[in-house]
Amino acid sequence: MNRFLHVLRLGWAYRIRRSTWLPYPPYQYTIEPTNSCNLRCPFCPQSDPEHAQRRTFGQLTEANLRVFLERLQDTHPGGRNLNFTLDGEPFLNGDFIPFVELAAQEGYFSIFATNATRLDAPTADRLIAAGRFQASIDFAATPEVFESIRGREGDYDLVLRNLRYLLEQSKTHSGVHVDIHDIAPYTGVDPAVSLAQLRALFPADLPRRIRFDSRIFHNFCGHLPLKRTDGVYRVCPYPWTQMAVAHNGDCLACCRDTVGRSVLGNVFRQPIMEVWNGAAYQRLRQNLVNGRPELNAACKDCDLPWSKGQPRWRPMYVLRSLLRR
Ligand code: SF4
Repeated sequence: MNRFLHVLRLGWAYRIRRSTWLPYPPYQYTIEPTNSCNLRCPFCPQSDPEHAQRRTFGQLTEANLRVFLERLQDTHPGGRNLNFTLDGEPFLNGDFIPFVELAAQEGYFSIFATNATRLDAPTADRLIAAGRFQASIDFAATPEVFESIRGREGDYDLVLRNLRYLLEQSKTHSGVHVDIHDIAPYTGVDPAVSLAQLRALFPADLPRRIRFDSRIFHNFCGHLPLKRTDGVYRVCPYPWTQMAVAHNGDCLACCRDTVGRSVLGNVFRQPIMEVWNGAAYQRLRQNLVNGRPELNAACKDCDLPWSKGQPRWRPMYVLRSLLRR
């Protein structure tokens, strides 16, 4: 389906009709390489001591990724991007680079978030050879702030070295896209000042494919306390837009539901459209349309419907992010 037509149909079903049965496939797909991580950042559910009990650790296999890609071809031929982000650090799955290669062979541009602790120079070289990608990487300008959040001594130098190598390669490899997010504002510092300090660590002459911004934090469906910026409820667009798939094929409410509170089907066992328009997905959408997010396990304590002022709600932000993907 043409990308603009897809966005139009999505907008009509979500904004105008508030449909729960959707006449189009998901616009975005995210699939999880693994749900284990080597870090325990406080803003992430991985830092919850009970995280491992909530969802068993496991890894996506190449065979299952092939099943998923076949289902994607049946449902959404011509899809452009494949997001490998949900829970966990993707490079802890030893097959992650072959996944990027396989996705590239099928015509997909890979998107993923990584903490870059495993992204050393040889790994970056293999990744660049595997296919085009966009990496989202959190960082901060000073070791004190970065390591106070990341929780491991020495990680600042390690990640800085890895980032510098990757950004140097980006000058000569057009398939390398990197978003570097400043996480220092989590500690309460001035975002504009810390972002400028972060930017100054890297060469000025980077391609436009390399971007720097301040990370926008959310509460991961209740991992952090729910803050209501006002009393106004907004219908979350994610269940009209994206399908988030765990490493075992379970479809979750969205990419924020990293502990699998709402499981809506399984795409290794069912066709994508059967899950997308299944009873569980439709019920989840109906509860959001009715202003009853508390009836969805994932949405119950999620801050998104109550986060007035977030750029995510601005029409131009939404349109730009949809058309960029
Ligand atoms: S309300 Fe929150 S948990 Fe529910 S689908 Fe939207 S972002 Fe995900």
